[in-house]
Amino acid sequence: MNAHPPLQERALAALSAAMPADLLLSDAEALERYSRDWSGDHYGKPLAVARPRSTEELSRFMACCHELKIHVVPQGGLTGLVGGAVASFPGGEVVVSLERMNKVRSVNPIDFAMVVEAGCILEEAKRHAEAADCILPITFGAQGTCRIGGNVSTNAGGFNVLRYGMTRDLVLGLEVVLADGRVWNGLRTLRKDNRGYDLKQLFIGAEGTLGIITAVALKVFPKPEQVETALVGLESVEAAMQLYSRARRQCSDLLTAFELILRRGIEIAVNSRDDLPDPLGQPYPVYVLIEASAAGRVDLRALLESFLADASDLVLDGVIAGSKVQGDRLWLLREMMVEAQGRGGRYLRTDVSVSISSLAAFVSETLSALAEKHPEAIAVTYGHVGDGNIHLNIVPPEDMPADQYDTLFHATEEVIFDVIDRHGGSISAEHGIGRIKQAAFLKRADPLTLELSRRIKDALDPDHLLSEGRILTSMRAEAEG
Ligand SMILES: Cc1cc2nc3c(=O)[nH]c(=O)nc-3n(C[C@H](O)[C@H](O)[C@H](O)COP(=O)(O)OP(=O)(O)OC[C@H]3O[C@@H](n4cnc5c(N)ncnc54)[C@H](O)[C@@H]3O)c2cc1C
Repeated sequence: MNAHPPLQERALAALSAAMPADLLLSDAEALERYSRDWSGDHYGKPLAVARPRSTEELSRFMACCHELKIHVVPQGGLTGLVGGAVASFPGGEVVVSLERMNKVRSVNPIDFAMVVEAGCILEEAKRHAEAADCILPITFGAQGTCRIGGNVSTNAGGFNVLRYGMTRDLVLGLEVVLADGRVWNGLRTLRKDNRGYDLKQLFIGAEGTLGIITAVALKVFPKPEQVETALVGLESVEAAMQLYSRARRQCSDLLTAFELILRRGIEIAVNSRDDLPDPLGQPYPVYVLIEASAAGRVDLRALLESFLADASDLVLDGVIAGSKVQGDRLWLLREMMVEAQGRGGRYLRTDVSVSISSLAAFVSETLSALAEKHPEAIAVTYGHVGDGNIHLNIVPPEDMPADQYDTLFHATEEVIFDVIDRHGGSISAEHGIGRIKQAAFLKRADPLTLELSRRIKDALDPDHLLSEGRILTSMRAEAEG
């Protein structure tokens, strides 16, 4: 990967000659910043990094890459957790970073829509929406780092999916530079448009394999005037799911988050900082972080209080935040659990889903199977269970030598995915396939799905120059059988 084959050297020289001088970075030190993802688990040094300032510049760049047959991988904030955005193709790839295309082009509070360039950091886009008294409801831990193009390319989920849907549900239009440099302009804010195939859907969740997204039109919503947050302790995941079902009915569908955390996750959070005490009077096996929000005349606090009082057969203890600061402290538990769970080292991340009604059975069957087959594995279980999505992660025991991690991760992932298969679930609810979930995905995908997927890839990127070897195997790997 690091040695440039002469052909690539020549192609890069031709590319540099054809493009503005400051478009391409290629000195080794500068490339480091684009070589490792957030987790630190995935590293790949690109041949060079292109940082276009406009769609036109990217279009010219891609036309050159197409002519010179240079492999390219688009990159957003590098928070994707499946190794998709770092260079990895044998022989080398050029990273296209969208970081300089980062403007919010417009927020229209009458259309309830905003148009954002792909390199805009999610949190920045959210700030602009709020300045217009609206919200962009894509919300999760990496929002200060990930970029809108990455969010669309991974069809990101997060805490608010149960109310507002996945990113796909929020996209009204896209602008995309294709593998041959042509620009597909579908950047519209129309709510209804049934003219022919809805081509934008192809690029959403495609993980950069079909085109490079340069701008996105997104739905925004009225900013809630009230937000209430509660943390409750329960006996079991089963009880949490019953609470969820009741909350959907009794809270007038005003829930915006319903996050499950098993006790170990709370312990990880409270042990991670001195200023984060155990949140309830005593430990409970299961916790749920509930958020509800509303605009208009609803008395949201009274609604949440009476809902929780009526659920005393399920809720063992709980606290409703008295202020935004207190609400933020409850969310900090969730955030710190995610940050501290690996003790700074490697751990297995899974991101699976089952139907909501199967979630309790899935968790109990998986934890039993893990305890039986791999009692040394430390399971950390939490998730956006209002969407049937759970992260069941495996942390190695402290005394395990690092060279044994991969064996543990592989074996425990198999256990988790076996139970997922039995429940007809998905091995990737949010993070996508990238490179690291590819084998598990291909093993399970039915032949017709794969055939149609390959045809779509061939139609949009016939030379397989874009993000080759992510989701589907590379042409070279296929030729080698
Ligand atoms: C702490 C933490 C919490 C997270 N929580 C969630 C969560 O709750 N829900 C969730 O869904 N995800 C979550 N993630 C995963 C991640 O943040 C999302 O997948 C995010 O959408 C990735 O955005 P990014 O800009 O970092 O993309 P990158 O990591 O840079 O790229 C991701 C993929 O998209 C492609 N890509 C990037 N930009 C473009 C573009 N402009 N055009 C075409 N392809 C492109 C890349 O090639 C790559 O395949 C979390 C990650 C972390 C670290």
